[in-house]
Amino acid sequence: MSRFMNKRFDTLEAYTPGEQPKDKQYIKLNTNESPYPPSPEVLDCITKDKMGALRLYSDPEGTALKEELATFYDLRKENVFISNGSDDILNFAFMAFAGGEIKASFPDVTYSFYPVFADLHGVTCDVKPLCEDFTIAVDDYKTNEHFVIITNPNAPTGIALSREEIREILLANPDRVVLVDEAYVDFGAESSCSLVKEFPNLLVVMTYSKSRSLAGARLGFALGDEALIADLETLKFSTNPYNVNRLTMEIGRAAIRSHAYFAQCSENIMKTREETVQALQAMGFEVLPSKANFVFIRKDGLDGGYLYETLKDRGILIRHFSKPALAEFNRVTIGTKEEMDAFLKAVRQIIQETEAST
Ligand SMILES: *Cc1c(COP(=O)(O)O)cnc(C)c1O
Repeated sequence: MSRFMNKRFDTLEAYTPGEQPKDKQYIKLNTNESPYPPSPEVLDCITKDKMGALRLYSDPEGTALKEELATFYDLRKENVFISNGSDDILNFAFMAFAGGEIKASFPDVTYSFYPVFADLHGVTCDVKPLCEDFTIAVDDYKTNEHFVIITNPNAPTGIALSREEIREILLANPDRVVLVDEAYVDFGAESSCSLVKEFPNLLVVMTYSKSRSLAGARLGFALGDEALIADLETLKFSTNPYNVNRLTMEIGRAAIRSHAYFAQCSENIMKTREETVQALQAMGFEVLPSKANFVFIRKDGLDGGYLYETLKDRGILIRHFSKPALAEFNRVTIGTKEEMDAFLKAVRQIIQETEAST
């Protein structure tokens, strides 16, 4: 930190994104990207004319994209907010809906960016432990005091709450915003977006980064009551009104139109996930019940950090969390069938080697 930096940020610890190493080609199962390319419509949507139009600012209202998203989710465009990735939306939401008396409440095991946003905006956290089986303790979030953030399905566990459980949380918090981060909802969990019309305190946050194969495009959106969306717009227009570029807006529209392709990719990933779970269980792994495009796994007698390191040596990257409660586990993104076969083969070898040496 330079001596010029605002003292307010003395203790700020920035978020650490998953590694994107450049030393060699890895089988990347560490950051929950899609193994499939964006849809053919997306690949074709950036014409020379569209590139030429880059001399003009993008539409700060994002009207065309919002209209297509609204139609897709059976809402109105006033219920839709778009931004430069869903992390950007989470940032605005912490600014808008927490602070002062209002703490941010979320589980101790969840997306590790939330405490960073809280810290950045001087928001106090009310962190609740997960249950012993790694599920979210729904009753802990029924205080009507805090800004509640639920990742559904949760990360890195992959475990989902039902829409009814989300409804219970919403009913118990009529005076507070409940943000449901649905980054992984397209892999088999129930979305809460149909509750938007019913609950003025619900904000559903979604991203193009995972199920729509567009992590590099940086596009996220939120669905919510018109008044909540207007709050987010106020903050966006006070920060960077053009924060979604023209090409990304075109890409976002093309991706919504290619619904069948997207549904097929999600289907494939769910199928590969089930095959991977079975193979891991057969090797003696405990696998938490996942509705996401990753699995969270551990095995008695196999150190989590060791598995991560030995796989990395073999050119396969998974995600290990050093936090003591999670250190036995690894999070493994579901890739293609071929990638998972290579992963399973390597894990089998590692287990055999460790068993032979003891
Ligand atoms: C990946 C992820 C995000 C961030 O998505 P971007 O749109 O790429 O910024 C948000 N929340 C959770 C829980 C995620 O895993």
